[in-house]
Amino acid sequence: MKINGACHCGFITIEGEANIERVTVCHCTDCQRSTGTAFRFNVPVRGDSFKITGEPTIYLKKTAESGTPRAQAFCPRCGSPIYSTSPGEGRQASYMVRAGILEQRDQLMPKRQIWFRSARAWVTGLDAVPKYEKQG
Ligand SMILES: [Zn+2]
Ligand SMILES: [Zn+2]
Repeated sequence: MKINGACHCGFITIEGEANIERVTVCHCTDCQRSTGTAFRFNVPVRGDSFKITGEPTIYLKKTAESGTPRAQAFCPRCGSPIYSTSPGEGRQASYMVRAGILEQRDQLMPKRQIWFRSARAWVTGLDAVPKYEKQG
């Protein structure tokens, strides 16, 4: 699926070809900390289709469990997470794009949840929490 999106302030825009069969929710503690929320929502985008405007800041982090370094890209102006990829110069094979920044996010349904052992206890019970269409 063709996808496009932008960070919260619009400085960074991206587009590419996403594999919607691999939409993933990640409950790992690194994702909780780096998003400031309960989980991350990702879709892989093929490297040869990936286009970006604006210059993201790259933060290189060894993930706690696997020890594999990942380059985490975010907007230097508004702080929105944009993607993660393997570290290195130039185009990478694949980019895990943060699905919340995409115009097509309504069509991206999670196909798997990983690191579920770190999931917040309430994520499976959200449907029972009172809901308000606006701020409430
Ligand atoms: Zn921004
Ligand atoms: Zn994670």
